[in-house]
Amino acid sequence: QQKYDNLNFLPAHSRESQPGSRPSPWHLDSQGAHVEERRRVTAKRKRAKTPLEDFHLRYLWVTDLSAQAWCEQQMVYHRERPDLQLPEREVLLNTGKSIHLVRELQDHDLVDVRTTSQEDRWAIKLLNLLQAIADLREGRRVRECPVFGVLEGVFVLGIVDQLNYTANGELQLNELKTRKKPCLPFPAQKKRDRFQIFLYKYLFDAMVQGCLTQDNFVHHLHLEPKQPLGLQIQEHAQKVGFMVHCFQDLLELMVLNLTHSDIPAIGHLQIEYVHQQTNALIGTEVITYDHDELMAMTHDFLEYWKGQRDPKGVDIEDTWKCCYCAFKDICNWRQQRAGSLTKKCSEKKT
Ligand code: SF4
Repeated sequence: QQKYDNLNFLPAHSRESQPGSRPSPWHLDSQGAHVEERRRVTAKRKRAKTPLEDFHLRYLWVTDLSAQAWCEQQMVYHRERPDLQLPEREVLLNTGKSIHLVRELQDHDLVDVRTTSQEDRWAIKLLNLLQAIADLREGRRVRECPVFGVLEGVFVLGIVDQLNYTANGELQLNELKTRKKPCLPFPAQKKRDRFQIFLYKYLFDAMVQGCLTQDNFVHHLHLEPKQPLGLQIQEHAQKVGFMVHCFQDLLELMVLNLTHSDIPAIGHLQIEYVHQQTNALIGTEVITYDHDELMAMTHDFLEYWKGQRDPKGVDIEDTWKCCYCAFKDICNWRQQRAGSLTKKCSEKKT
């Protein structure tokens, strides 16, 4: 949390420039000015780092953004203090992953491919996307489909659980959510899940409408187009029908296939809730896409990542979430809120 407290530090020059403000005491002697100048330089240097840079991230996962819909401060603590995470969370995540894997294996095998560069690792994602495009063109169901895009200058990546055509020919996105308890989630959890699939739809639709460019990968991810692909990647690509030598070959294929795919936009969105222990279906929710809601939430979340504001914790009506939070004992947001509530109460009494 200390990291972002520095962002609140009002720069000396902005205080000085306020009309009618008195000269600051550090201008009165040369030693003070020297100290203040150092402080100003330090503050400026710290402010210059956005959370994206601070966490050394060139892209965000859709799940990073959807975690903000639950509690942004908690998402930050998950990155800063992984040592405090509850062991049950790990167990829950692993059980969820196993259920997803079982479903994925119903449709295709997984092939281990050796990678030797970051271009190789992205090449695997592009090959999976190319395979998904081919399957969708043939009317087949697709599992674990990668989606990419750039939102307000930030590269975002996600993996869609399932895409398939409905009986009336609509392309449907089906997101699987596994639950520890055999009941449907609270509205707050539904809000997070809804945001996640809105974002998947937005990224997928933009891809099939030809919005994804080679430059998005080169510029945002700092990938080298001329980097030769590893031998295993080239061999695997050849087996599935693509002759590629360097990363750019794959980028060109991806753009070409997306632009001429004729795959429709996603017309139907649903979330399937499944009980982790029994694998039984708890319920299915059909969701209506709300573009304005998605854009407003995305803009707000990206403001944090771009260093335009500090992280936020939960609103007062959502403080029940703190009871289940691994970071409640160290949470600055919670302490500040409790402090301001106590202050308000004592002000009312006097
Ligand atoms: S204690 Fe509450 S506000 Fe703080 S991180 Fe956890 S859920 Fe968010």
